[in-house]
Amino acid sequence: MSESLSPEKPAAASAAGKVEKAFGNLLQVRFAGRVRQGEVAFVKVGDRKLKAEVIEIAGALAKLQVFEDTRGVDFNTEVELTGDLLEAELGPGLLTSIVDGLQNPLEEVAKLSGYFLPTGVYIAPLDRERKWDYIPVAAVGASLKRGDTVGTTSEGRFTHRIMVPFALYGVYRITWTAPRGFYNVDQIVAKAVDPAGREHAFTMTQKWPIKNSLAQGEKIKPTKMMGTGVRIVDTQFPLIKGGTFCTPGPFGAGKTVLQHHLSKYSSVDIVVVVACGERAGEVVEVLREFPHLTDPYTGESLMNRTVIVCNTSSMPVAARESSIYLGITIAEYYRQMGLDVLLLADSTSRWAQALREMSGRLEEIPGDEAFPAYLGSRIAEFYERSGVIALADGAQGSITIGGAVSPAGGNFEEPVTQATLAVVGAFLGLSRERSDSRRYPAIDPLISWSKYVDTIGHELDHQIPEWSAMVKRANKFLLQGNEIGRRMEVVGEEGTSMDDMQIYLKAELYDFSYLQQNAFDKEDAYCPLERQMLLFKLINKIFDKKFKFTSHDEARGFFLNLQNQIKNMNFMPFNSEMYRNAHRIIEESVELR
Ligand code: ADP
Ligand code: MG
Repeated sequence: MSESLSPEKPAAASAAGKVEKAFGNLLQVRFAGRVRQGEVAFVKVGDRKLKAEVIEIAGALAKLQVFEDTRGVDFNTEVELTGDLLEAELGPGLLTSIVDGLQNPLEEVAKLSGYFLPTGVYIAPLDRERKWDYIPVAAVGASLKRGDTVGTTSEGRFTHRIMVPFALYGVYRITWTAPRGFYNVDQIVAKAVDPAGREHAFTMTQKWPIKNSLAQGEKIKPTKMMGTGVRIVDTQFPLIKGGTFCTPGPFGAGKTVLQHHLSKYSSVDIVVVVACGERAGEVVEVLREFPHLTDPYTGESLMNRTVIVCNTSSMPVAARESSIYLGITIAEYYRQMGLDVLLLADSTSRWAQALREMSGRLEEIPGDEAFPAYLGSRIAEFYERSGVIALADGAQGSITIGGAVSPAGGNFEEPVTQATLAVVGAFLGLSRERSDSRRYPAIDPLISWSKYVDTIGHELDHQIPEWSAMVKRANKFLLQGNEIGRRMEVVGEEGTSMDDMQIYLKAELYDFSYLQQNAFDKEDAYCPLERQMLLFKLINKIFDKKFKFTSHDEARGFFLNLQNQIKNMNFMPFNSEMYRNAHRIIEESVELR
């Protein structure tokens, strides 16, 4: 076994204590010995040990948040401090796994007790029996740093790098390597000495404290598009590999449907889904649904490139916070292998509520709407763990972070949405107005934005001349069309000029047949960029053309017909004869008109 020594880490359990006070999941403990912030502790209730984390220290008193139901905790209940921070176990086998915020594998849990873990039971995150085909890479005598590749194994279709533990700082010289062969995650695959001459043994796993970033390598500016197959996103509000975005929206507007869609179709290697359930049933849905989904790029099970971290609202709040950090740590680990990772968190509002609850119990000075004053910095720190990293061997890895936000009543002025908007690169705002009129995805083009428009536009202009100019113009049509539409509600169609009427109808056509998309249709659900470009060019021809109509009715009739014809194209297989014919007929009818 690896000793996994880190310079900062005390060698063994450092202290013990006794409970003095308990308020819900918050315990005040009097201790003797050394205790550090963030340290994991176990609270002994009968023959069970409840996991907890030190969140405040003052003199010989520490405050602990317990990750479980605290029934049975009493005055003088014994507490054992471990000296370890809250850690993730990293190694092959993370993919396909479904774990809770403390990395208990839920499938194993389900075998024991049906998805709800009895308190005080913890299960090893990785399979201890499974053997992996290990291939040594570093030779005896090689000098390695944290994160450098010691060897590799195959995890599905990915090359999983076995790296020098990130907790080890300094230069390590390899003294022994295991020959190629099948090993389990606890077997030693290499040995190395540090500059002080101490020997370390490496296995295929390592541990890392989840609240810190493990990133190693140079952070570089993201430039590559992350395709989603969602037209309104890719065309109007593009996302970037290594960037950040948020999807705020009122309850029922389609945040979860959108996140599931992104987890399936985004052009990345690996997806980490952090599900902090809105409703208890929602997480169970994730657990039921995901294992049956197919990866549209490979035809294999989607789980082969997915890790799910989930907490239902019935689990204690502290576990929600740890699930966010566990998810991002796993994402960072795979980024160091040169892979593109997407982390989706649904919903970050649940996490913020957990912070508010704990802050209240700690009697901290509250900020806006009783959220702690550090809410903004916590959110910023989380999104800052995104980005593109250049690795030593020239490869690049990225983490894109997308967070759903669920403000009460869909009011975006509240603190969590505002703190998120201050740090993300793209805002896909879902509106009640759009979901009520079944304009799905309910991303509101009038309020949404992406700071990546120019970067992506520049890239796409090479493929399609004038791409970014067309995108900007389409946006202008939407704004103008909306304004005219609102005026029309007051003055009626007759009071609207023919020119204005045309702008309004063009904007409606763009919305109806392009921005709206059926997530549940076989053809329409995923619209590749090539397909988007062809359709977008066709719509731009319509924008360009000044049609002549003799009446408002005639104009309305013409555009209704046209938009239905275009919409129908979305349900046809791309580049089929049917599709090409429909495209030609529409093009001709626009030209001839
Ligand atoms: P939220 O997570 O915002 O509370 P959901 O994603 O659970 O909302 O969506 C609620 C319901 O809205 C879904 O069950 C579905 O019926 C409908 N819906 C959401 N998005 C779409 C979509 N893109 N196409 C069709 N229906 C949708
Ligand atoms: Mg939801």
